[in-house]
Amino acid sequence: MSLNTKKKSGWPGLIEAYRDWLPVTEATPIITLQEGDTPLIPLNAISSRIGNGVKVFAKYDGLNPTGSFKDRGMTMAISKAKENGCEAVICASTGNTSASAAAYARRAGMRAFVLIPDGYVAQGKLAQALVYGAEVLAIKGNFDKALEIVREIAERYPVTLVNSTNPFRLEGQKTAAFEIIEALGNAPDWICIPMGNAGNISAYWMGFEAYFKAGISKQLPKMLGFQAIGSAPLVLNTTVKEPKTIATAIRIGNPVNREKALIVKEKSNGKFLSVTDQEIINAYKLLGKEEGIFCEPASAASVAGLLKCKNEIKNESTIVCILTGNGLKDPDCAINNNDATFFNGLDPNIDKIAQTMGF
Ligand SMILES: *Cc1c(COP(=O)(O)O)cnc(C)c1O
Repeated sequence: MSLNTKKKSGWPGLIEAYRDWLPVTEATPIITLQEGDTPLIPLNAISSRIGNGVKVFAKYDGLNPTGSFKDRGMTMAISKAKENGCEAVICASTGNTSASAAAYARRAGMRAFVLIPDGYVAQGKLAQALVYGAEVLAIKGNFDKALEIVREIAERYPVTLVNSTNPFRLEGQKTAAFEIIEALGNAPDWICIPMGNAGNISAYWMGFEAYFKAGISKQLPKMLGFQAIGSAPLVLNTTVKEPKTIATAIRIGNPVNREKALIVKEKSNGKFLSVTDQEIINAYKLLGKEEGIFCEPASAASVAGLLKCKNEIKNESTIVCILTGNGLKDPDCAINNNDATFFNGLDPNIDKIAQTMGF
């Protein structure tokens, strides 16, 4: 047997992989869980539904170490915080930021304080924050309120804010665009992405612009951002006081990166649209049943949005949908929203089981 040369060197994590493109120096201690290098998976069933030679891919960022793209930003934010001698970090979170902040902060030997909206964080995410050793503060209020509080606390006390207002977060997150260009040999025609605080759409655009300016890609993609209809401040161009949606990761009424996102929309000739919770769930089930991909509901908003824009897609286009988080994050949503056949309480009898199977 010879060595499998396809796997010749281990992935070092995204800071080492893209060091030249990131604001780090020799003095920066790199706090990594080897995040990044996530797969770009062809979505065959969805491509054939659209037809006309259109190729759709999923950038499955739910395969990062804590199960969401937040790890791309957190490796940078925590490494820089460590470099600056910080001993504690804080964030407001709908769940994934807290899981990621806790994992990286604890790995760096720091305290991690997380403020969450009581009752609106998916079980898997809360479980992670607890196991990663975060100090969890659940408030009676939504994400937007939690963010207001942590911003104030970070100004008054010696704790570093690691929400997407932290510029290092977006720097790390932009590397997903690099990976897409490397996998396709060029930027795609469209990016479809869910938006909450709209940090990620802004980060992707930074990445696409950087590679375009360096001549590594020949085009810039059109950026299509999607929000849930009950939580669509960027689509409605307003603030939503009481955002509502099954997709808790994007249940945000006052996005902190609003200005940046509007610039991305304009520069990329893009669009912001809303999708209903039902459309999100339909796409969520479709990804599971026909593509074998289990993502969280917020992530499925990208595919729901794409299907909604089906008639505007040019023939032979290449489209990438960003699947931001792993389906295991939100088991309640999965149990309550599926078309599975589930027979329980069966006798352990071969004939009866075969009969139930339809034989
Ligand atoms: C954070 C998050 C989003 C929203 O990203 P923003 O940068 O806030 O727009 C979408 N999906 C998942 C799974 C997330 O964790």
